[in-house]
Amino acid sequence: MSKEIINVTEIAEYLYCPRKIFLKRVKKIKEPPTKAMILGFLKHKVFDIFNKNESMIVSNIKENITKEQILISYRNYLNEIIREISRNYENLFKIFKIELLTLETQTLGFLKKDLLIRADSIKNALNLGFKGKELWRNLKPKYLTEFQIISERLRLKGRVDRIMVSDKILPYEIKTRSEIYESDKIQLAAYSLLLEEEFGKKIEWGIIETKRKEEEIFITKELKNKVLEIADKIRNMKNAPFPSNFNKCKSCRLRGECFEI
Ligand code: SF4
Repeated sequence: MSKEIINVTEIAEYLYCPRKIFLKRVKKIKEPPTKAMILGFLKHKVFDIFNKNESMIVSNIKENITKEQILISYRNYLNEIIREISRNYENLFKIFKIELLTLETQTLGFLKKDLLIRADSIKNALNLGFKGKELWRNLKPKYLTEFQIISERLRLKGRVDRIMVSDKILPYEIKTRSEIYESDKIQLAAYSLLLEEEFGKKIEWGIIETKRKEEEIFITKELKNKVLEIADKIRNMKNAPFPSNFNKCKSCRLRGECFEI
């Protein structure tokens, strides 16, 4: 049995076009990086530092602080991280002509709602009299953003857009479009499997947030089985036919190589 770890985004990609995964995994063809991909990579780096240090930010919050001041502390800290990332990845910024302001706007834009719900949660815990490390420990609910998980047992890994941690664990999959596809539900089920292992709690519901709405999704056994089944198909992939709908190929960056093989 192959021990290969599959990224949840590969499962979503497989559902879009299995041949794309075949080209990347079996034929080892690399998708040329775009500015958007590099920006995504840099944002992930920002979130990795942010997640490691958020407990410290919260523990340092003073009792009489307002909600607006909490938001300012978060934004200031995020800007510090963004500047650190811009120094560490100076070359990528130059090659892909990325402005510091673009990374700041996109990161803070993505986090806008997350910071507001965090600030409310912190205010509630402060009102209950918690401070310092106790404040972090007693945040209910606690929110995690772009949280990365890997499981050797499931042979899966992924980065969950948002997680609400309280007595229950609620994963969020955030989409920048208005529609919800079946692949989004499968992706959410994959994150639920990973989070069940990480937190040792059963997850029955998740949320898909789109531009227009938030929809509660029941994470069925069928959805979870589908995740494991597709992950196995990816691990054992030997070939992949062309899709029946060539519209998908119009904006595909692997189109040149794909039609030559
Ligand atoms: S060109 Fe079309 S068939 Fe080939 S990988 Fe891209 S989307 Fe799939």
